[in-house]
Amino acid sequence: MAISNDMISGHRKLHFVLLPWLTTSHMIPMIDIGRMLAERGVTVTIVTTPANAVALKPTIARIADSGLPIKFVPLPFRSVEAGLPDGCEIADNLPAFDMLPNLYNAAKLLRQPLELLLREQSTPLPPSCILSGMCYPWVTEVARDLGIPCFIFHGFGSFAIYCMHNLYSYKPHEGAASATEPFEIPGLPFQFEITRQHLPIFFQSMPKFMEMCKEVREGELEMDGVIINSFDDLEPQYAEQLAGATGQKILTIGPVSMCHRESSDMADRGRELSVDATRCLQWLDSMKPQSVIYVSFGSVGSFSPAQLMELGHGLLAANRAFIWVVNGVQRFPSEVQRWLQENFEEGGADSRCLLIRGWAPQVLILSHPAVGGFMTHCGWNSTLESASAGVPMATWPLFAEQFLNEKLIVDVIGIGVAVGAKTAVQPFAPDDKASVKRETIADAVERLMDGGEEGEERRRRAKELKEKAREAVEMGGSSFNNITLLMEFAKQPNN
Ligand code: UDP
Repeated sequence: MAISNDMISGHRKLHFVLLPWLTTSHMIPMIDIGRMLAERGVTVTIVTTPANAVALKPTIARIADSGLPIKFVPLPFRSVEAGLPDGCEIADNLPAFDMLPNLYNAAKLLRQPLELLLREQSTPLPPSCILSGMCYPWVTEVARDLGIPCFIFHGFGSFAIYCMHNLYSYKPHEGAASATEPFEIPGLPFQFEITRQHLPIFFQSMPKFMEMCKEVREGELEMDGVIINSFDDLEPQYAEQLAGATGQKILTIGPVSMCHRESSDMADRGRELSVDATRCLQWLDSMKPQSVIYVSFGSVGSFSPAQLMELGHGLLAANRAFIWVVNGVQRFPSEVQRWLQENFEEGGADSRCLLIRGWAPQVLILSHPAVGGFMTHCGWNSTLESASAGVPMATWPLFAEQFLNEKLIVDVIGIGVAVGAKTAVQPFAPDDKASVKRETIADAVERLMDGGEEGEERRRRAKELKEKAREAVEMGGSSFNNITLLMEFAKQPNN
């Protein structure tokens, strides 16, 4: 994408301050958004915390080398004061999921240092706009005091945000007698039954989370607008309907992962890699086009030992080549770790398997022509990264809004097959059963990789979306133009 000097100089005076929510999977796309803005000449400050700045070191170093006008500013984080272990500054590292409100309360203590930062002389330019992660409801007041706009980035797609908006408005979940009683999500052009357990915590009436959820929702409604990591051709009507329903500016600006054009940038996102990216590419180079399935469940998705082993058996039974990313391996008992090693690392699955314990270069892997399918937990980043690489998915949602994303992938857009996960699990606390059986898993892989008519049609749609995604982020594309709108809005006085 060639951006002229004129276009850049027109935005030289803009300074966007990005405050990503404290999870790796929110930081990754917000850093990409920072890059996209900086490439358009905007000065960008990304607010982080000391421990997160250490974890993001490779990314920060790469951005420094690029010469882009992006500065990372770590603000002091008072974990212990909020009842968290010292140094716990990210949801990924919470000792238990029900400590999320502690993290939320610790994040409230960022307000004062943020206000100081935004007012002090040393910032490169006065701030023009704040892009806020989803759990900082107080940030609109900070923006109002400075007389600048504030947009929210939920990390969700348009369909999911629209479904949630309708749930907030019509509250069908409140009429359900239990977490497993089905009800319909209103306002959609098709019937969609769901249960409370398949929804984000905002709809689960969990006492410990209620106050946080209420404040987060109130904060959302105060925002000037919403920026969404999505693109016009993927789920257009839901962004439009959301704009109509909320009266807020809704700007789809993705897929943000497409801001990376160099392999090394694609590889270095989020955490430090647990595998050599070149080794991954060499392994993939030795495989036939579209023959490999990539299996990963995001930054925090994890299974019980029983489910993990069932998944491994299912992948072996499917008789296809696969890359399997297992995170949190150290939490598994030593016999499970040994089983992984013997069956997937020491020639157990021959050359058919590449096991990655920890963090994989996901976007790089998905962009390789040998990858023909992605078994995913339907996290929104992963969903979009798969769609932008033209790779169909086998969907296995675990929690949060992932069951909504599954509906979109399988039934609305038609680029996925459902593995058949029926039960939601809690992050960091998977139940000890293996509810999805190996035969079901192997069958899903077969359906996904199948060369028959349905499989071909899914692949055709996925390739079409890949092309549309590329067009959206190119100069003059819908996402490119929405970034221009965002910059224009930030330039207007009294917006
Ligand atoms: N990711 C990665 N390597 C991994 C696991 C995840 O690069 O081994 C990235 C992935 O590309 C995506 C993000 O982490 O950008 C995960 O976000 P997603 O919304 O898919 O899931 P979540 O982690 O929020 O459950």
